[in-house]
Amino acid sequence: MRKKIIAGNWKMNKTPTEAKELISKLKDKCNTDKVDVLFVVPSIDVTTAAECLKGTKIKLGTQNFYFEEKGAYTGEISAKMILDAGAEYVIIGHSERRGIFKEDDAMINKKLIAAHKFGLKPILCCGESLELREKGTYKAFIEGQIKSAFESISKEQALNTVIAYEPIWAIGTGKTATSDEAEEVCKFVRETVKNLYDESVANEIRIQYGGSVNAGNAKELFGKEDIDGGLVGGASLKEEFINIVNY
Ligand code: PEP
Repeated sequence: MRKKIIAGNWKMNKTPTEAKELISKLKDKCNTDKVDVLFVVPSIDVTTAAECLKGTKIKLGTQNFYFEEKGAYTGEISAKMILDAGAEYVIIGHSERRGIFKEDDAMINKKLIAAHKFGLKPILCCGESLELREKGTYKAFIEGQIKSAFESISKEQALNTVIAYEPIWAIGTGKTATSDEAEEVCKFVRETVKNLYDESVANEIRIQYGGSVNAGNAKELFGKEDIDGGLVGGASLKEEFINIVNY
């Protein structure tokens, strides 16, 4: 039985002071072990957030890192820094990083390898544009994203990876994929993992849906066979996140 994992992606929102305020509103009612709950905060907020979350079951993640161990990479942060500050997860390949910051499949593969090498737990995002959805070629595109990201990733490392299916047309738009549309692709992603590894990895790996998840649609989405929770953007910054966690 796969444990659901519900992650709030705060994106570039909340100063450390504001993070403290938001966490104090959310933490008691999100402190459950029925599902894994994650706050994926801006890197600058990790130390403060870790302090605020002490004694709870809520886990912390960051939204980005650089794949090298250390050195002359001005502006970047390393896996070791993230872990030392108190976070254990990292999002890799979010469509905003792919689109705005031009991260390509090769970069995403390097980051996935590095996350495992240095001990971060990755949430790997995949998902198609509206254009590909309308053309009907979205599955082949997503298969390509997954195959490329998992190159040189061992079976054990694959098991320690969470995949988030996030159709770009549903991110921040208020336009959620229907639960059937989301399930269709999550099932397909699981099938792709089976082809890359084997049935046991496919059965164990957790696959989230992301794209305008809210308190009103979480239950239906997370009730689907192949959807193991959600990656939540906008709604993770509100008290609504409590209802999503307790769907
Ligand atoms: C996201 O940030 O990954 C996301 C899915 O955002 P939203 O829930 O706002 O669509």
